[in-house]
Amino acid sequence: MKNFDLQAWVRPNIWALKPYSSARDEFSGNEGIFLDANENPFGGKNRYPDPHQRALKKVLSERNNIPVDQIFIGNGSDEVIDLVYRVFCEPGKDRVIICPPTYGMYEVSANIHNVEIISIPLNDEFQLNIDSILSQSAKCLFVCSPNNPSGNRLNNVQRLLDEFQGIVIVDEAYIDFCDNQSYTTLLPQYPNLIVMQTFSKAWALASARVGVAYASKDIIAIMDKTKPPYNVSRFNQEEALKALSKPEKHAYRVATILQERELLKDALLQLPVVRHIYPSDANFLLVEVTDANALYEYLVTQKVIVRNRHSVVRNCLRITVGTPEENKTLLQALEAFPLTGAAELQPIVR
Ligand SMILES: *Cc1c(COP(=O)(O)O)cnc(C)c1O
Repeated sequence: MKNFDLQAWVRPNIWALKPYSSARDEFSGNEGIFLDANENPFGGKNRYPDPHQRALKKVLSERNNIPVDQIFIGNGSDEVIDLVYRVFCEPGKDRVIICPPTYGMYEVSANIHNVEIISIPLNDEFQLNIDSILSQSAKCLFVCSPNNPSGNRLNNVQRLLDEFQGIVIVDEAYIDFCDNQSYTTLLPQYPNLIVMQTFSKAWALASARVGVAYASKDIIAIMDKTKPPYNVSRFNQEEALKALSKPEKHAYRVATILQERELLKDALLQLPVVRHIYPSDANFLLVEVTDANALYEYLVTQKVIVRNRHSVVRNCLRITVGTPEENKTLLQALEAFPLTGAAELQPIVR
């Protein structure tokens, strides 16, 4: 987007907001006795965490070659999504574009903030309808690549960055499972770009709730002043740092999941109940089956829980790639599915 003036896109009350100044903002050294934050002097967990998550941002900055002041840490990506609405979208007035089928939180968060949604579905190949998107005006556009629940990467995102008049949020929750470069490499060219990543998937830390946003330093500064001061607990910051200190473990897990994904896909395609598997660049498969509701219910009785996406993509189950043992159990359960009249259906390999 050319001639980007950030102030024109931020809610006036947020632009004018004077942030809360915490005790840890006014004095940030480590030395001394701390009688400034009404903390309890006893116990090892008595201190407020670093509100600016400096240690974590430093490691992320070095790993991804992005300046520290272009990094925001949230309590999961969900907090980042919430903040995008709080910063940019005037309730009851502004609109956002989402491209279903996609991650449900963009819509839920819009509803929470009373922001109108313009829904521009992905096409039959689960790719963006660029011309329809560009024919609309909205404050923000959410795109998810690789997309959940379809699993594929989206093409032509850069064209949207060039031409869409508004903030473009690219959700890269699954970026570590595909070999595309992150859109963070384009941050210097696009002042209207926000890239979201998370520790919940490839970093195996969903319980910790740590999400990351990368954007211009001006956008990050506004998100920082708008967030609750101590939004990420010390324990969660430490868990993220611990994970980052073991990049080999991360790489090994990702490689294992990718290998398992291919094995699982090949084995699923042999099953009579499986009609199609969509191409995946993520840690899950979107699988079209003969009867998603029946199969889902059956798997529950076998204590295998998958995600029934029938309501968003007809007869599709979204199956997360598990450990080799878990995947084997899933396949055994599916092989034992009692076929009633569906036995003659052959898998369609496209
Ligand atoms: C799982 C997922 C996330 C992660 O959200 P967190 O709040 O960081 O756990 C974000 N976006 C998409 C598309 C996801 O599927």
